Order: sequence, then C-alpha cells, then structure tokens
Amino acid sequence: MSLPRYSVVVPVFNEELVIRETYTRLRKVMESLGEPYELIFVNDGSTDRSQEIITEICRQDPRVKLINFSRNFGHQIAITAGMDHASGEAVIVIDADLQDPPEVIPSMVAKWKEGYEVVYGKRIKRKGEGFFKKFTAALFYRLLQRMTNLPIPVDVGDFRLLDRKVCQVLKDIREKNRYVRGLVSWAGFKQAAVEYVRDPRFAGETKYSLKKMLKLAWDGLTSFSHLPLEISLKVGGILALGGMAYLLVVLLVRPAPASLWGNVLLSAMIFLTGVNLFFLGLLGIYVARIYDEARNRPLYIIASRVGFDENRT
Ligand code: UDP
Ligand code: MG
Repeated sequence: MSLPRYSVVVPVFNEELVIRETYTRLRKVMESLGEPYELIFVNDGSTDRSQEIITEICRQDPRVKLINFSRNFGHQIAITAGMDHASGEAVIVIDADLQDPPEVIPSMVAKWKEGYEVVYGKRIKRKGEGFFKKFTAALFYRLLQRMTNLPIPVDVGDFRLLDRKVCQVLKDIREKNRYVRGLVSWAGFKQAAVEYVRDPRFAGETKYSLKKMLKLAWDGLTSFSHLPLEISLKVGGILALGGMAYLLVVLLVRPAPASLWGNVLLSAMIFLTGVNLFFLGLLGIYVARIYDEARNRPLYIIASRVGFDENRT
C-alpha cells in the first residue's frame, strides 16, 4: 500500500460512547479530500470498551490503526505516540470527543498546501463547557503567554495540522513532562491559524480531571518559563536594598526615633530575609540551567538549506 498523504492522530481515553461516531465523521471528511490517509487511534489505557470497538473498526477498514498503551500515560504522551507512528506528509491531531469538528480539517489542509508547516485551530467560542473550565483555560493561556518569551498562541489546543518536518523535530525531543503545544511553538516554522467554534462533547464526560488539568498547566509553565525563580531573585534584591535603606534612615534621622533598637532590629530582619531570598533565587537560576541542559532540546532547527550537497548528509 502506498504511503498515506495524511495521518490523523486521535488520543482515546474511555471514549466508548463517541468513538464510532468520531470514526464515521472523520472518514467522511478525509474521504472528501480525495487522497490516501490513515487514522491512528491511540488508546491511552482505556478501561471501557474503547479497545474492542476500535479493534473491530480496524478489521473492517485497513486505513485505521490502533496503538494500545499498557496503562494511562496521559493525553500529551498519547498524542506524541501517535505522531511517532504517523507516516503521512501532514499529521492532524484531533480529540476523540468531536469537540474539535473534523469538518475544519479541509481548511487546515488548504493552509498547509499554501506552505504553512503548522496550522493550529483557534477557538473563537467554546460551547457546552462550564464557566470554571472556560475561565481557568483563558487565564492559563494568558498567564503562560506573559511568562514566556515564546509566541505561544492563546485559546489554542492540540487540534492542529503539522507538517512531517515538524513531527520529525518533535521526535527528537524526548521530554517527559511534555507540553506539546509549547514544543510546537518552540520548534518554529511557518505557522497559521484556522478559527473554529468548539462544540460540546458528543457524549460522555471530560477525561481531564482537575488534577490532570493542573498537571498540564504546571508542565506548560515550568517547561517554558523560569519566571517563578526570577521572582525570588527580584523580590530578594528589593527587600535587601529596602532593609538597608531603612536601617540608614533609622540611624541617621535626628532626633533619633524613640524605639531605636526596635527599628534597627526590624530593618536588619528585612535585610536578612531579602539576602536569603536573593540567594535562593540565584540557586534557582543555576538549577534552571541544569534543567535546560538535562532536557536536551536541540540547539537549533534547520528549516531548509540552499547550496549544500544534500546527498552528503
Ligand atoms: N485523553 C487521553 N488521555 C487522558 C485524558 C484524555 O488520551 O488521560 C483524550 C480524550 O479521550 C480526548 C482528548 O484526550 O480525546 C481530550 O480530552 P477531553 O475531551 O476529556 O478534555 P477536555 O476537552 O474536556 O479538555
Ligand atoms: Mg473534550
């Protein structure tokens, strides 16, 4: 069988209620593109009938593939495994619950054909999600954007199309606590957005518990920002300087304040706390550098080369 042009990666965790419908809708959309494709379901340790259902679909449709994890490794790891196994020239990542409408894929493909290597879906509206989810998500995206130097777009999830080149780059980044969207932004390449309205879940409940959501947010923030450590450094510096200034004022002002020793003690305490925090932050910066080295992201990524003998490399 010839290599597919498109690979669709679908992470699945206990989605027995939706998976057939997802398959039907994806197939319809992908067929309308008129080029060979594959559907890769990554079963992230489901405990319901998801595995049986997808295995059955695989038997009927040779374009469908299934990867079964030995346990629940989490959404981001499931996406990664799917991308690792994809052989298409463009890889589309989409949730199993039909919140990301498959009908948006053709416009992503159109952008890809214009030459964009990353086309992400930007949610202009989220239907069927509670206030808490919408509020925390909006807050998180904005916080992350402020805390890092990377252009990580806001209100963008993992629904996106990636050129094979970009997947290749992600294959070389083996970070454990992955925040895939951040890594894609970090990888660079020509990026474009397609706007869409996020639908309510087709059936079932969210598989993102509060704990999983917090872990995702934490991974995003700590993998792409050192700001928390720098805060300690800055606050410490300010406190130390403030304490020192306070001490000088107390000692030099005339007439001397009534509780001279009380004031001296307080300023010394502020000063010492500041010094403490400052060095804690400094230590943190070194730890951050070790962390950077340990993650082992490639130093740079080459998009293309001109004038080199490509056969030699
Ligand atoms: N998912 C997964 N592993 C998990 C949690 C979720 O593979 O541990 C999948 C889930 O089946 C769905 C996608 O990730 O396809 C997004 O999850 P969900 O729709 O529950 O999250 P929400 O849309 O509520 O943020
Ligand atoms: Mg969902």
